Amino acid sequence: MVYLSKKNMRKTIVFYFIFQSFFLHSQIRCASDHYISSLFQINNLYKNSQRNVNKEIVQWISNNNQKESINIITIPVIVHVIWEDNTDENISDMQILSQIEILNKDFRRANIDVINTPSVWNSIAADCEIEFCLASIDPYGNATSGINRVKTSVSTFSLIGDKMKSTNEGGTDPWPINDYLNIWVCDLSGGILGYATSPSNFLSSGDGVVVSYKHFGDNGTVEPPYHKGRTTTHEVGHYLGLKHLWGDSNCGDDQINDTPTQQSENNDCPGFPHNQNSCGTQNLNGDMFMNYMDYVNDFCMNMFTQDQKTRMVASINLYRNNFLTQTICNSSLSVINSTNRQNKKLIKIIDILGRKQNYEKKNIINLYIFDDGSVEKKIKIN
Ligand SMILES: [Zn+2]
Repeated sequence: MVYLSKKNMRKTIVFYFIFQSFFLHSQIRCASDHYISSLFQINNLYKNSQRNVNKEIVQWISNNNQKESINIITIPVIVHVIWEDNTDENISDMQILSQIEILNKDFRRANIDVINTPSVWNSIAADCEIEFCLASIDPYGNATSGINRVKTSVSTFSLIGDKMKSTNEGGTDPWPINDYLNIWVCDLSGGILGYATSPSNFLSSGDGVVVSYKHFGDNGTVEPPYHKGRTTTHEVGHYLGLKHLWGDSNCGDDQINDTPTQQSENNDCPGFPHNQNSCGTQNLNGDMFMNYMDYVNDFCMNMFTQDQKTRMVASINLYRNNFLTQTICNSSLSVINSTNRQNKKLIKIIDILGRKQNYEKKNIINLYIFDDGSVEKKIKIN
């Protein structure tokens, strides 16, 4: 039998709780804060330009307060699928498309979960008027599916080193970061679900979003409770300038006026109201845990706020303004055709926002989903 001194006993207990906490939360919902801190260590330009972001955003908002006149902004997405042989990492077109639909529905407040937004926050829950498309044109002007599949011999990737973002290291280089939202889908080590860069006047060379293939989209390889595509919604929120609701410190500031002050992250799916009067406030509604920028389970998330929308629109105008005038989403025709199986059966036709079409509408992009997991994107011209 081993006897422990009081001091060692205390150490052992502390270690036990740390270990247990690590075990219980062995999945890391989001590593963006950790990732951005690590970028600060190696990139002074990024660090210094991030310091000015809040000032620049506040200034932009005060100069552009006609929120009503904002048009819909569409962001072209390139999804890089990095997959190793004999694994299920080479996710289907259908799984990728489901993620694009989820982004569109979440950012346009068009998903079915919005009915769960507590009524006290309905008036500030935002249609962000931001949409996403799979890119139709590649950097060389050729038609593309918006999906780049890359076979690798690397079994898992880590945020340290960012190797999924480098062709020389078993991943793939980003497409031009000013023109495309680059999303890398791969096997992430350490239980990390995803991470993203945040925007500023200096964009890091690895600008974009990384998501585990187990948490991308809502079918195929996804694993509950993070199986509804909200990891990507959350990470794209960071990519467009949003912080976690607790400002990454105890009762911290997320730079958003209409989200309540919150002590720290929420997990699982609390009941409403949760944590009333926290952080010494008189806030009877408690934490806005169902916000996409918290850590709750995917099915429990359902809102961005008006001020979060304003910050994202400001970030696009200041730091990602090629998206305002892009034509990468507007190519007349592109075909996603990675399986090409004969005799495949059409399951359904949907529009770019994921709405089912009962017939082929002309002059809009329709997505044809087949039973073999393939998707074809077409415009029927009059
Ligand atoms: Zn996060």
